[in-house]
Amino acid sequence: MNLAFIGHHLCEDHKPGNHHPECPERLHAIADRLISSGMEVLVTHYDAPEVTLEQLWRVHDPAYVDLIFNSAPKVAGELSWIDGDTAMSLGTLPAALRAAGASILGVDLVMSDKHHAAFCCVRPPGHHAERRRSMGFCFFNNVAVGTAHALAAHGLRRIAIIDFDVHHGNGTQDIFEGDERVLFCSSFQHPFYPGHGWETDAPNIVNLPLPKLTDGPTYRAAVEKHWLPRIDAFAPELIMISAGFDGHAEDDMAHFNLHTADFGWITRELHDLAARHCHQRVVSCLEGGYHLNALGRCVSTHVDELIGHA
Ligand SMILES: [Zn+2]
Repeated sequence: MNLAFIGHHLCEDHKPGNHHPECPERLHAIADRLISSGMEVLVTHYDAPEVTLEQLWRVHDPAYVDLIFNSAPKVAGELSWIDGDTAMSLGTLPAALRAAGASILGVDLVMSDKHHAAFCCVRPPGHHAERRRSMGFCFFNNVAVGTAHALAAHGLRRIAIIDFDVHHGNGTQDIFEGDERVLFCSSFQHPFYPGHGWETDAPNIVNLPLPKLTDGPTYRAAVEKHWLPRIDAFAPELIMISAGFDGHAEDDMAHFNLHTADFGWITRELHDLAARHCHQRVVSCLEGGYHLNALGRCVSTHVDELIGHA
């Protein structure tokens, strides 16, 4: 069974300013690499639908959703700044609605057994978006929207969200902290951006703060010790991934020394857990990753491992 590759051309129209690292070229780099690596023939493309208000309200305060809608610029070339590094252009709202809708479709496709896995190749990313606050290039929390949909519309009772972006998934933690239907595992450079929202006693949150210069062997050992047994014991009915590749050694957004093979390794571990517990069901959403060449290589490897070879 091949992989559902979900995107939308409107995701290229989110333009948060010249020289902004979260740029449309990220999607082009991924598309180019999938073709050159031969992965393109192993995926089925889908257009992401627009998320509905009801689907957004499961994870975001309605007043916050209104704020984002009302902040959208009305003319081309105008930018509306939501925080110091998060800006809306004319194309941002349509892109954000498709980015969140992608995870809805991904969940529906894997729960209906049309595909065992889905990759949402979308932007803007989502994992910094809290219930009532936009930040860190994010507006709507895409992985949270998909997770809430799987809980509400498909009746799932145990979903694991794994966030291996180099930044803590503060938004996802804010939304699901204390919700025992969701096990949230986030690894991140610490201390580092966003710097708040990670301390917690909630038993459903398994944070993995790691120092700068963390390399592959150190990262793998930490994941093997702190995450894999917890996810195995949780026995998820679905695995969601916040797939950020900005921990790559070539990515200067942060200071981890991970390599493409490390992202392949963790994807394979998650695929194996999904094979053991939930018919290989994985829905992965693109988060960070700003070195274009490294991003293309990492996503190609990630998709290859999500397809699996069992
Ligand atoms: Zn990041």
